[in-house]
Formats: sequence, structure tokens, C-alpha cells
Amino acid sequence: MFDTKSYDRKYFDRLMPENVTIKYFTPKLDETTYPLCNGFDVVAAFVNDDLNKTVIDGLYNFGVKLIAMRSAGFNNVDVKACYKKIHVMRVPSYSPEAVAEHTAALLLTSARRIHKAYNRTRDFNFSLSGLEGFNLNGKTVGVIGTGRIGRAFIDIMKGFKCKVIAYDKFPSKEVDCEYVELNDLFKKSDIISLHCPLTDDNFHMIDRKGISQMKKGVIILNTSRGALIDAEDLLDGIKKRIVGAACLDVYEEESDLFFEDKSGHILGDDVLARLLSMPNVIITSHQAFLTDEALYEIARCTYKNIADFFDGKNSDNEVCYRCEKVEDCKIKKRENCF
Ligand code: NAD
Repeated sequence: MFDTKSYDRKYFDRLMPENVTIKYFTPKLDETTYPLCNGFDVVAAFVNDDLNKTVIDGLYNFGVKLIAMRSAGFNNVDVKACYKKIHVMRVPSYSPEAVAEHTAALLLTSARRIHKAYNRTRDFNFSLSGLEGFNLNGKTVGVIGTGRIGRAFIDIMKGFKCKVIAYDKFPSKEVDCEYVELNDLFKKSDIISLHCPLTDDNFHMIDRKGISQMKKGVIILNTSRGALIDAEDLLDGIKKRIVGAACLDVYEEESDLFFEDKSGHILGDDVLARLLSMPNVIITSHQAFLTDEALYEIARCTYKNIADFFDGKNSDNEVCYRCEKVEDCKIKKRENCF
């Protein structure tokens, strides 16, 4: 298991089946660390591991049979390079509510300036100047991606009596909200929240052009994947006072930073440093999943995936190598497209 933190180990140790042994590694999996996998059957990886073609081929040559992703997203796995070599399974839904609730926490923190008030009162500064917020009640929230997390977030926003509109590449009749085109969502929303996966066709789906169409003062929330937003264009939108606030749990260049204690280091990423210096930007380091319920479910489901794989069972949690989850996906028909 790569990129292991104490909180991962706690749950994987607690739920470990008798016939499984794990070697925990703290470094991330990449071209320099994959030689550690020689002799293992399974590699358990996480969101900032780099499973490119070289790594996949190396794992395959070492006899690794399964990549067990401890995440829902698998954009960091070269799935095409895995085809006919190594199976990939994931934990598709460990706790949509964990991510949706963190998104709402970021939004409320920003809207009510809680991050500012927290620091002030600790300094015995009880002034309210500059802490003016706004009500969520009645605001239009644009949700991009209405899967498990998007739906949980929609429910929360409806609880605040917001009007919810949505854009999804594959709209669902089960979702009770108005679907609109992406441009319309940009134009109409007071708050925009990203809940779609990062794929080849939506890289930088929020960029300078999209931001220029947005309402002045729009709040942008991203708890999905960093590269959905062009961070330099976001910075520009903030400087031009189009974007009123940005709350980010993910960042395009997060892989060498997030999950690590970098205090005392010089931050080399000027865009991130500038974003962090803005009073209306809140950044958490890919923390949205980090609840007791989600960590338990990640460990439980990863063990189940490994057991299903070695028992020869077809599983919905296996990543489809050919059609990448379009309508006629074989995995959904409980076939194996490997
Ligand atoms: P999901 O598969 O249930 O839903 C994704 C939705 O996005 C689907 O409705 C799909 O049709 C839609 N979609 C796909 N491509 C799209 C596109 N180009 N434009 C618009 N919509 C598109 O996934 P989920 O469980 O809701 O998770 C969503 C994302 O959240 C994951 O892919 C992952 O990147 C991210 N995530 C982040 C954390 C975190 O800790 N920050 C944790 C878990 C998941």
C-alpha cells in the first residue's frame, strides 16, 4: 500500500482479513518507487500516486495482478495501459455525504467569513468590520456532475432553500433539479460546485472563457479534481473581481504538496502561493473524504474488492478498460471487458 498515512493504517489494520498481509509504504507510487512491488499480488494506491504506462508495465512484469484504488477517481491510472495486463478496482462510493458535507462546510466558512472570525477572536479581536457575509437562502447553486456526491450536495443546498440548477454530461431523470447547458449554468449561478470526474474531455472546464461569463461575485467550489479548473485563470478571475470567492479542496499541482507537512519549506508554486494569500480563497488539502465513516468504508470495500477479484467474481467496482463507463458498458452488464 502506497502513500499510507497513520489514519489509513488504523482502518486497514482493524479490518484486515486473516489471509491478507500488507506492506505499508509511505512514499507515493511512481516511476521511482514501483520496484518496491516485486513479489506482491496487489498494489493499493491513492489519488496522488502516478500510475503511468511505465509504472503499469513495471508492475505487470513483477507479477502484480490487481491495482486496488482506495479512491473513487482513477484519473491518475493509465487505464488503457492496464488492458490485458492488470485489473483495476476502485471504491466508487465510500461516503458521498463526507465530500458533500465538506463542500457545504467550505461554502458556509466562506459565506460567513468563519476563517477570518476564528483567527480574530483567538487574538481577542472582537471587531466585526469586514466580516459581512450573505445568506444562502434564495441563491442559485449550479452543480456540475449529478452523481452520488453531486446529489448529496444538491440535497444539502435544497435544505438551505437554494435554487439548484445542474449540468451533467449524462443527465439523470432521478435528480430533482433543472438541467441546463454549461454556459447557462455559468451565467445563472451565484455559487458553482464541481462534482464530476476529471476525464480527457473536461480538463480545465472552468477557464478564462467560462469565468468571463459568470456572475460578478460568483463563488466557485471544487472538491472534485484540481485540473477541472485552470488555476491561473481562476486567479485572474479573482483579481478582476469576477470571482467573489474560491473554495478548493483539490488543486491541479497538488500531488507533491497535499497530504504532506510542508511548513518550513519554500513554496515553489507561485499560483498556489498567490491563491493562498487571497482573503477570499479557502484551501483544504484534499480533505473532503476524511471522515471516520469514509475511512472505514474505504478499507472495507478495498478488502472486499481484493477478495472478489481472487474469488473470480465479476464486480461493478472494476474499472472498464474499453468503454470507460459509457452507456453500453460491459461492467454494468456484469460482464468483464478485460
Ligand atoms: P459519480 O460517478 O457518482 O458521479 C459523477 C457524475 O459526473 C456522473 O453523473 C457523470 O455523468 C458526471 N459526469 C461525467 N463526466 C462529466 C462531464 N464531462 N461533465 C459533467 N458531468 C460529468 O462520482 P461521485 O462519487 O459523485 O464523485 C465525483 C468526483 O468527486 C470523483 O470523480 C472524484 O474526482 C471526486 N472526489 C473527491 C473526493 C475528495 O476527497 N475531495 C473524494 C471522492 C471523490
